[in-house]
Amino acid sequence: MTIAVLPASFDPITNGHVDIITRASGLFERLIVAVYSHPKKPVLFSLDERLEMVREATALIPHTEVTSFDGLLVDFCRRVGAIVTVRGLRALSDFEYEFQQAALNRRMMPELEVVSMFASDVYGFLSSSIIKEIAENGGDVSAMVPFSVAEHLQERFGTRRPPLVAGGYGH
Ligand code: ADP
Repeated sequence: MTIAVLPASFDPITNGHVDIITRASGLFERLIVAVYSHPKKPVLFSLDERLEMVREATALIPHTEVTSFDGLLVDFCRRVGAIVTVRGLRALSDFEYEFQQAALNRRMMPELEVVSMFASDVYGFLSSSIIKEIAENGGDVSAMVPFSVAEHLQERFGTRRPPLVAGGYGH
């Protein structure tokens, strides 16, 4: 049985993440979605909130489970018996970072294979940080994130601002 790990901060999970998780779930017998808990990385949502949102968003995806991890990804993969880690590749900008991470992880765990999946064209522009920026500025992100994430963002940033009136710039 091939166990794969899909690690990310998921701060918060977006429809782009859900797409990669769904597609990866069809390739492996067991897919562990691992929410990264980095004590020093500034995040908008607590680990518990991120876990809850990821669990809700992936509840119906077969043979997929959700957990959290800290420390090195290779140590986590060894612990759960995974030999594959799945990453999404959006534009060229993702490539350099992913290439570097893959090379470093291979040094530390040569048997770990990185499977990089190209983002679907409809989600290639989505990132957690852009979602937070739009939501913080009162924009509507409901078509870009799972329902519970849209709710959490609304709670966090308050209700949407009314649309700009003609000739006005929101002042
Ligand atoms: P981190 O902050 O840990 O990098 P992210 O949530 O930004 O976590 O991304 C983790 C993984 O999810 C990366 O492999 C990234 O390429 C992938 N990913 C993020 N957004 C998308 C998307 N819209 N489509 C496909 N993959 C994505």
